[in-house]
Amino acid sequence: MTVNPFESYLKRLDQASEKLKLSKEARSKLATPDRILEKDIDLMRDDGTKETLHAYRVQFNNARGPYKGGIRFHPAADLDEVKALAAAMAIKCAVVDIPMGGGKGGVQFDPKQYSDAEIERVARGFVRAFVHDLGSDKDIPAPDVYTNGTIMGYMLDEYEKITGKKEPGMITGKPVPLGGIVGRDTATAQGGVYALEYFVDSQGMEMNQLRVAIQGFGNAGATMAHLLYEAGCNIVGVSDSSGALLSETGLKPDKLLKTKEEKKVLEAPNAQKATNAELLEADCDVLVPAALDGQITRENAANIKAKIILELANGPTTPDADKILAERGVTVIPDVLANAGGVTVSYFEWMQNQEGSMWTEDQVSTELQKTMRRAAKAVDEKSKKAHVPLRDAAFLLGVERLAAATSMRNSAV
Ligand code: NAD
Repeated sequence: MTVNPFESYLKRLDQASEKLKLSKEARSKLATPDRILEKDIDLMRDDGTKETLHAYRVQFNNARGPYKGGIRFHPAADLDEVKALAAAMAIKCAVVDIPMGGGKGGVQFDPKQYSDAEIERVARGFVRAFVHDLGSDKDIPAPDVYTNGTIMGYMLDEYEKITGKKEPGMITGKPVPLGGIVGRDTATAQGGVYALEYFVDSQGMEMNQLRVAIQGFGNAGATMAHLLYEAGCNIVGVSDSSGALLSETGLKPDKLLKTKEEKKVLEAPNAQKATNAELLEADCDVLVPAALDGQITRENAANIKAKIILELANGPTTPDADKILAERGVTVIPDVLANAGGVTVSYFEWMQNQEGSMWTEDQVSTELQKTMRRAAKAVDEKSKKAHVPLRDAAFLLGVERLAAATSMRNSAV
């Protein structure tokens, strides 16, 4: 049975509302998106035929700052998914305590079936559809699944053409020459490393003694492998959609990436081929899911050997698995904290655009480290105080902060 992602959010919200003793009105405000925008995008295909694609922008909550969240191009990007992701953004921004709200966008189609020129037209069509709802003080998109910096560049160009003004802060994750920030590409993984360091430290472990397995070798996973290798960790397993590699003696991420670029598969001389299921159950200290949602389930949770799970992917652990892992004492650093480095550096990018400045790499990493350590500490303290796992603690913290800001709005008539 597939779980409706927005229903899952509402269930979690109910539990948090009860614990925080939120009023019915306060709970209702956090259960309802501020605005759901839906438009059709008319696309001219390269062969001259016309097609209509369905697009969404959900502006979930802006009590703490402008709506903020990526745009995904994916066949599964339906309204429930986009609503759930928009709510998660509002919680995530509150957990890392940046003055941004939550939003998300989606175009429901499979970009793999379309040419680059067609994808550019979809990106420009998205902006034309929602131009009056976007803006640096209103709603600020970013890349997400199957969108990237180049696509953000097209969107910015379209927006500035229509509005006739320079406004780089209306979108983040754009290329550096267009006002993007250095270090945005590695921000999600780097933020994850800072969060991991906090919990490794608090559990009396050492980074350079860790054995790590990473599921997914894309933007987030491959960068994570590289950063952890540099920090002295032993990378004992990695995987992608083609399968997994396991190695007792350790893998070298740079070499793996080079081979993957040349041969399109993961390969290393000192490694054994394995399945993704085996990778998740590999003998290691830290498991980093960095691919898909729903990977750690009630079927495999009891077999996971890692002491710490760092969720770089969104939603990789199901609620059933969470219970099993909590009973077994596994520390799960939840997605809303573990992968919040991306949105945090997006916020820095927006700040530099608003100031008309350019941040340096050092500035970005110093501020990111501060933000992530502060958030990890706050979640850890909440977890100890409320006697709940880190995921529940992060959600409680996010809801508490969001509710405090949302309650200041007076919508009484
Ligand atoms: P990506 O497309 O660059 O990489 C995904 C990787 O997962 C690829 O290597 C792919 O081969 C692999 N993969 C696909 N199916 C797999 C399977 N069945 N088993 C193992 N590996 C498989 O995507 P990304 O940007 O790295 O994002 C990965 C996850 O991290 C997503 O859940 C995303 O929402 C989350 N995330 C990413 C960012 C970011 O800044 N990139 C920020 C926040 C959250």
